[in-house]
Amino acid sequence: MRGAPAVPRIATAAFVALLVAVPLIAPPFWVTLGNYIGLYSIVALGLVLLTGVAGQTSFGQAAFVGLGAYTSAWVTTQAPVSPWLALPMALALTAVVALALGFITLRMKGHYLPLATIAWGIALYLTFGNLDWLGGHTGIGGIPPLSIGGFSLRNERHYYALIWVVALATLWASRNLLDSRPGRALRAMKGGLEMAEAFGVNGARLKIVAFVYAALLACLSGWLYAHLQRFVNPTPFGINQGIEYLFMAVIGGAASVWGAVVGAALITILKEVLQDVLPSLLGRSGNFEIVVFGVLMIVLLQFARDGVWPWLARLAPARRARAVPAAAPLPSRAADPSRDVAILTVHRARKTFGGLVAVDDLSFEIRTGEILGLIGPNGAGKSTTFGLISGALRLSGGDIAFRGQSLQSLTPYEIARLGIGRTFQHVRLLPHMSVLDNVALGAYLRGSAGVLRAALRLDRAEEARTRAVAARAIERAGLAAHTFDEARSLPLGTQRIVEVARALAADPVLLLLDEPAAGLRFLEKKALADLLRGLRSEGMTILLVEHDMEFVMGLTDRLVVMDFGEKLAEGRPDDVRQDPAVLEAYLGGV
Ligand code: ADP
Ligand code: MG
Repeated sequence: MRGAPAVPRIATAAFVALLVAVPLIAPPFWVTLGNYIGLYSIVALGLVLLTGVAGQTSFGQAAFVGLGAYTSAWVTTQAPVSPWLALPMALALTAVVALALGFITLRMKGHYLPLATIAWGIALYLTFGNLDWLGGHTGIGGIPPLSIGGFSLRNERHYYALIWVVALATLWASRNLLDSRPGRALRAMKGGLEMAEAFGVNGARLKIVAFVYAALLACLSGWLYAHLQRFVNPTPFGINQGIEYLFMAVIGGAASVWGAVVGAALITILKEVLQDVLPSLLGRSGNFEIVVFGVLMIVLLQFARDGVWPWLARLAPARRARAVPAAAPLPSRAADPSRDVAILTVHRARKTFGGLVAVDDLSFEIRTGEILGLIGPNGAGKSTTFGLISGALRLSGGDIAFRGQSLQSLTPYEIARLGIGRTFQHVRLLPHMSVLDNVALGAYLRGSAGVLRAALRLDRAEEARTRAVAARAIERAGLAAHTFDEARSLPLGTQRIVEVARALAADPVLLLLDEPAAGLRFLEKKALADLLRGLRSEGMTILLVEHDMEFVMGLTDRLVVMDFGEKLAEGRPDDVRQDPAVLEAYLGGV
């Protein structure tokens, strides 16, 4: 489980011992270095979540550090305000700025987002340097030191303690966050927004949450910096530093909170060494370390995509996963007692891709408590129909209604909230996460823990219930033996069944399955059919998109046969099987 790797206690203890030893015995140079590593770790940590986990690249974090530093510098030099009071002000201002920037830039796709972060990174930097009341390029001096209960933290060794208490606290909170309901949703975003949204995650909102979280950490670091230096100017908040923060997150290992510390330490120490060594080696001075960093980055991206941390983590013995403790189940939907009434109505649905008509004037309904098979040859339009129902695709014409409510203008996560669960024909699991974590994502809508509750670890009761629900779904799907395995270690057919378990964890009213039996062996297919029959007997309604005629025959109540986007036949499996048009199209006229 890479998102929140298990760090052996002994490694953590050794690290803390090293941290404590530095201010006690190391020369001042190392204490200063330790201070900077702590400050940088906090910023890099934000990037681990934003870039490493949620996949949003930002070059502009230094600007948020500057926002924290400048706000506190200005406020505390203008008025006799305690730095402790200036901190919430700085955080509030940063949150507002990050929200505004997030709303504008996070809609951008591909390389536009990183470019936009460079743009506002430079813009904020220039703002600091060009406002006279912020001291222009000279900056602001005479910033008061921090004090705790009358004890002034003027000494670097004392300040070191504060920086590292804050850094460790943010590490703890971020690790908690990753191992929680919102954290699972964040991690799921790497599998593509479509997958996360199928379980009710509002992707656009979550991106902004991650962005603001990262900005607040940067601001916190900037605030600490301002009262350590007691002087600020624009230089450390420029785009160069923004790139270095990203280096730290990527080199350390952008998918683990400890990667932030490793990256910050590596870059900071390496930079120190290079600044000493390179000029004497090359016989002249200059910022040559940037070139070395660039080369290092390229080498790393070639040979260790995930940074240094996963290597270090491999040295430690893996923690053995235990059984999932029993817990009261999460709230479920009230079972729908109605039988055999239309729950989903597809009315003259049409979908075109350019000139191609993938679904052509298709109408059918799904009735409560049945398993409806949607079958047809390859390319018939089954998956497209599936996408139209789940909201992943937009209708070109016609309408689809669930319990009388049109789904046309709803997003996939709103459709998920109505109680429609789905699997993906092309498996979309998080390969490095355990089966348990993958399936727990399915229960996203049944929990309510938010970022704050998760970060402070106040979500443990709900989390235990979520895990119990996931474990139960895994067991029902017959995968109990694989609960703690990494998803990628399973054969593709079995991964499809993990997808079924994940959809079950959502407690759906209507379950949409796209070729769940593909790649399964005979006995596995039989087990899947038994599972689906069991679900039906509990009142679940199931739409089964299938290619394999034999699999659907004994299992479904009714069949809708498609060919070239149109409905060819509809009825009981035995009747449909005799239909000459179906035989002609489907079986090639046998
Ligand atoms: P099935 O699931 O029945 O095999 P699909 O619904 O995947 O069929 O595809 C129906 C038709 O639509 C095929 O001709 C396919 O090539 C085309 N198609 C599906 N998705 C897209 C897309 N995103 N863009 C263009 N054509 C598509
Ligand atoms: Mg298909």
